[in-house]
Amino acid sequence: MIDESVDIVACSNCFEDHGLKIDAQKIGIVDDITCPVCKAVDGYKLKMVHLETLAYGYFVWGSLVRCDYGAAPCVQFNNHQKNSIGVPEWCKNDVNLISQILGVGFFHYGPRMWMVGEVEPLKDLQKDATRPQIVKRIVSEYPQRILDQNTLFYRIRKEPKKPTNPEEYDSPPSNLSGSGRFESNKIPVLYASPDLEVCVHESRFTAEDELYVATLSASSELNLLDMSVLLNEGNGVTEFESLDMAVHMLFLASSHSYHITKSIAISAHDAGYDGIIYPSYFSLLRTGATPFETVYGISHRMIPQYRDYEEAKSIPNLAIFGRPVAEGKVSIKCINKLIMRKVSYDFHFGIAEVL
Ligand SMILES: [Zn+2]
Repeated sequence: MIDESVDIVACSNCFEDHGLKIDAQKIGIVDDITCPVCKAVDGYKLKMVHLETLAYGYFVWGSLVRCDYGAAPCVQFNNHQKNSIGVPEWCKNDVNLISQILGVGFFHYGPRMWMVGEVEPLKDLQKDATRPQIVKRIVSEYPQRILDQNTLFYRIRKEPKKPTNPEEYDSPPSNLSGSGRFESNKIPVLYASPDLEVCVHESRFTAEDELYVATLSASSELNLLDMSVLLNEGNGVTEFESLDMAVHMLFLASSHSYHITKSIAISAHDAGYDGIIYPSYFSLLRTGATPFETVYGISHRMIPQYRDYEEAKSIPNLAIFGRPVAEGKVSIKCINKLIMRKVSYDFHFGIAEVL
């Protein structure tokens, strides 16, 4: 008979920090054996792999600091370093316990500078003088993708005047547009997504809103610039020089980046594209993935074995130029009322302060 208890290294009751305790309950397994550390029976039991996941979520992801572009954790841990971070009183014993069991030390992490936006094409995109040449590269280096008539996508409207009128689901009238990621005086934009949950998320609706959703498809093939792919730039291109990293960070940034995405839209439009496919700002939330994952400071996006996984983190959104419903480029298959039954959040805890 295999003794299952040998794999158990701790339990949720071992921790004093309330956040760690709750996260350990979510990660741990139900098993009525006695915890080897605190001797409790009713805690959720943790194996090494669970404890590592807990430590990563709380200390690494939990200490992530966002910058204008990019983000980096303040803490890392590995088995080469000793514990050298100062932590709040309520988690001191927990840090020592985790570090002892995993055989690791927690230390202040000095990020590689690309993680906080030191990416040359990204810096060039932010400057008026150099932006056009990088925008030109984006339009020529990202692939073309055909959106056929069989692909369905969605657009949600809050309180439309005439809910079943197809025009309600076209690009907003010019007096209401301008604040989004791609539209400009020159080009109105219809935003939609093949993922209905992303549509709901991005629009920040509440349970009180009266919502309608239109199911759409292309009337004839649409020619789109696909910026949701992971661009293969070949060996020798580091994160610091990477156009892929620049674009990845651009779409994870909020409204301070919109003047850049608007100029990409104008350029793609002038090159004859009908619109853009782009990664959703909420991709990371939707897939629950960690932003900017690295192995020894190298981005997963640079490592061929991780590429499919990285691409799967990005959920594509559509930005279609002009007024495609009025122009007959996009047709309405169906319009439904959309009832928000519940709004749910998923979360984990992080360390409050690192000294
Ligand atoms: Zn325990």
